[in-house]
Amino acid sequence: MTNLVTNVAAAVEEHGSNTAIGFQGDDTSYEEFWAQTGAFATALESHGVGEGDRVALYLPNVPPFLIGFHGTLRAGGVVVPMNPQYKAREISHLLSDSEAKVVVTLADLVPFVTEVQDETSVEHVVSVGGEAEGATEFTVFLERGAPDIVDRGDDDVAVQPYTSGTTGQPKGVQLTHGNLASNAKAAAKLVPDGIRPDDKQLGVLPLFHIYGMTVTMNAALFNGASYYPMPEWDAQDAVSLVADAGITIFHGVPAMYNDVINQPNAEEFDFSSVRLCGVGGSGIPTEVLRRFEELYEPNVYEGYGLTETAPITHFNSPIEGRRVGSIGKTVPGVDSKVVDRDFAEVSPVEEGPVDEEEVDLTEITGEIVVAGPNVMKGYYGLPEANEEAFTEADGRTWFHTGDIGYQDEDGFFYVVDREKHMIVTGGYNVYPREVEELLFEHEDVADAAVAGIPDDRRGETVKAYIVPTPDAEATPEDLKEYCLTNLAEYKHPREVEFVEELPRTTTGKVQKFKLREREEDAEAADGDAD
Ligand code: ATP
Repeated sequence: MTNLVTNVAAAVEEHGSNTAIGFQGDDTSYEEFWAQTGAFATALESHGVGEGDRVALYLPNVPPFLIGFHGTLRAGGVVVPMNPQYKAREISHLLSDSEAKVVVTLADLVPFVTEVQDETSVEHVVSVGGEAEGATEFTVFLERGAPDIVDRGDDDVAVQPYTSGTTGQPKGVQLTHGNLASNAKAAAKLVPDGIRPDDKQLGVLPLFHIYGMTVTMNAALFNGASYYPMPEWDAQDAVSLVADAGITIFHGVPAMYNDVINQPNAEEFDFSSVRLCGVGGSGIPTEVLRRFEELYEPNVYEGYGLTETAPITHFNSPIEGRRVGSIGKTVPGVDSKVVDRDFAEVSPVEEGPVDEEEVDLTEITGEIVVAGPNVMKGYYGLPEANEEAFTEADGRTWFHTGDIGYQDEDGFFYVVDREKHMIVTGGYNVYPREVEELLFEHEDVADAAVAGIPDDRRGETVKAYIVPTPDAEATPEDLKEYCLTNLAEYKHPREVEFVEELPRTTTGKVQKFKLREREEDAEAADGDAD
């Protein structure tokens, strides 16, 4: 039985007096947390929420997210996590598509919900952190007794997060109790000695996203460890919390690591309490990883996964060893391979990472596909998307990641880039990641992104967007020259623009579609002016 709730119940039984949540100086023990989730479940039941009903959590990383999450599961419901940066227009699709009955949100965000409530099935709005018109306060909602755990099995859906929708409408990803519990357990096993009850896990990855939800929150709660939520990323605050609370496990996205090393007082930070640093969500530039490790004690272990795989499928583990530049080996219980367009396996290279300038990538790469207990049940109500997402082969159901990569003979996998990020310029394929890696090696570059922009002659052309360091001396022209010296001519950015910051998602991914939109808008404005 891998019901998410029973796993937490076991931790409550064994480590009842341990701190489950440490938030802004307030500690909540496992026993208290259990009582609060029970009260929340009872309140939901009294409002007619039963098995399979959707409860939307439209919250940043605050304790009510954890109470709402496990309370909903105790009532047999399904959690729909929503990005708290979304506005009315964005939540409207998620609420109607999921048919959520209840929304729990910050008092300040309640107006966005009430604005669209009529177009949805939302019956109750619960406000956190104060009163709001049209909502019941969370504290009032909680004043109830505790229910029995509703029995939900491995195949029952527990959480329905949505993809970020960079390629069309966001899709609801149905993750079952079995998917999530198997992955939280796999995540804990990647830490030397497993996650222990004396571990303190930093909770800065957003909980509405699968990486924060499984790898930081559930992996901690399954093992009686303490979870320290932070509602938003701030490098100085995060590093202070690490030192003050004695954080032992730190997971972040590459943009967070890059932010830490670019702080003016980066050399003073203390990471000595941390025994594992994990990174994922997008590829960490090797130079960022190297600089972080030069400054601080712990190594940074890179992993890989997707919302659809709950999330981790690959990890560089301190136990099995790591290979910098790789996403690691497939985690226990999960299978993966690299396939060509006919679904034939592509042979591994002898040892990675390869020098992308020296090899013909078309020979060694293919799409990474995965199978295992962590792979989603399917997109909600989207038969065509499900048709495209899976291939049945050798008696297994393989999920298509959409990522181009290769494998080496030692079992390490490498992501070259997302297939949809590939730039086709004058008939040549360019993977932005390779150009970005080179740019990060330049001392005047604090942050960089490369994207394909429309070009009449070449179809697309390579453009680099760069955030220079405060004392940068190089000009955009110098950086163009630097790329031209180090890369084949067709790969070098024909345009380099200095920007103040890059558009990123809450999970730190560069929104390349926004960079392209900017170019299209600029072109349209030029056209109008002509
Ligand atoms: P959408 O699918 O709607 O664009 P998203 O990008 O936010 O949304 P996620 O499930 O969060 O979806 O991201 C999964 C993707 O993140 C992977 O397919 C891969 O491209 C990228 N990714 C995750 N970890 C790594 C890594 N270590 N190296 C390279 N890419 C990674």
